[in-house]
Amino acid sequence: MLSRKRIPLTWITLLLVLFMVNAVVAKKGKHHHHDDDDDEDDDDDWSWKDHDRDDDKKDDKDDNAVVGPIDYKTPANEEWLEGIDLESAVGKVRPVGSGICEDAKCDGTDNDRCFESCGNIATEDDIYGCRAAKTWALTFDDGPSNFTNELLDILDDLNVKATFVVMGAHAKLYPDVIRRAFEAGHQIASHTYSHSHLMSLSNEEIVYEIKATEEAIENAIGVKPRYIRPPYGEADSRVKNLLKQMGYKVLMWNVDPTDYNVHMMKDGGRKIVRSFDKAVDSISNQLNAHKDLGYISLQHDLYKQSIKQVPRIVKRMKIRGYEFMTAAECVEDDEPHDRDTRAVLLNAQTVETEEESKKKHSADSVVSPAQENSASSSYSVGFTFILALVGLSGFFA
Ligand SMILES: [Zn+2]
Repeated sequence: MLSRKRIPLTWITLLLVLFMVNAVVAKKGKHHHHDDDDDEDDDDDWSWKDHDRDDDKKDDKDDNAVVGPIDYKTPANEEWLEGIDLESAVGKVRPVGSGICEDAKCDGTDNDRCFESCGNIATEDDIYGCRAAKTWALTFDDGPSNFTNELLDILDDLNVKATFVVMGAHAKLYPDVIRRAFEAGHQIASHTYSHSHLMSLSNEEIVYEIKATEEAIENAIGVKPRYIRPPYGEADSRVKNLLKQMGYKVLMWNVDPTDYNVHMMKDGGRKIVRSFDKAVDSISNQLNAHKDLGYISLQHDLYKQSIKQVPRIVKRMKIRGYEFMTAAECVEDDEPHDRDTRAVLLNAQTVETEEESKKKHSADSVVSPAQENSASSSYSVGFTFILALVGLSGFFA
């Protein structure tokens, strides 16, 4: 048996060992987002690879964002119709499904009839790509979701500003995520409240979709967006008339990696990255309606698989000389958002808490590692403290 005098010494030694073990565990917890591996075709160097591997075999449930519980019923406020000339927006309300053509050419001859297959007839004002050569705007649609913070961490690490094309219903659910994106310098654009086929709505319903989204975004960041991406890229002259009256620029895209189709495939990540390469390599690009020199790509922050390709995409395109910026910046527009009186009020509130949020933000910008780390170190301290108490009680017993 141990003599009583040796008990404290034993405890101290034990404590030291435990402390070292804890320190090692804490360090391991500090996992990286980054792809430090230069092997372009290696998809295995991600912190969540183990989950993903399994997901590929099971289903894509965990690879899809969880957004909810949520009410997609678009709020309607008749006051929103004030000042909008509904009469001037003429054209038919097209039933959903009536614009799908199996062999649509989409070359301008059948775009109107096949509006769901072809999306949008490009007008001069529509933004498809970045103006200047070697410029690129990453855009992320349909969020925010429970994955968006992860994407924001990645973009912070890469020092890349992107454009978030958000749904009003999701903005309502994740105001803090939109605020974080906005404060980090990303552009916030509208994607309607409920992601509806705008050409299938009445003029009033279209206004509600836009204004309800504005309200949700303004509540989060105090400003409203000046850019909108119609869901599915569907907007005819009637829809565009209304969007223009509400002060919007139509933001399309000229690179579509179809992450919504490929994200659940086993080599989905690689397919997404390849489509960026292809866009740069190919001479003709059907999506590039205005033959823009730079690119606006379309991804969704709903799919983990798509988000986790971002470091690889940025790295590859930077090597090829591309510079990343927001969609507004890449069309040389320094007013991506609209300020109004409500915005000023909200900003005043923001200033008050700026100091606080700055403190919080510096910790937030490395959210997962910092949290993991601080969690495990407080765990260590607590554990050590209890052991020390036990040790002391042994000493005094
Ligand atoms: Zn969408």
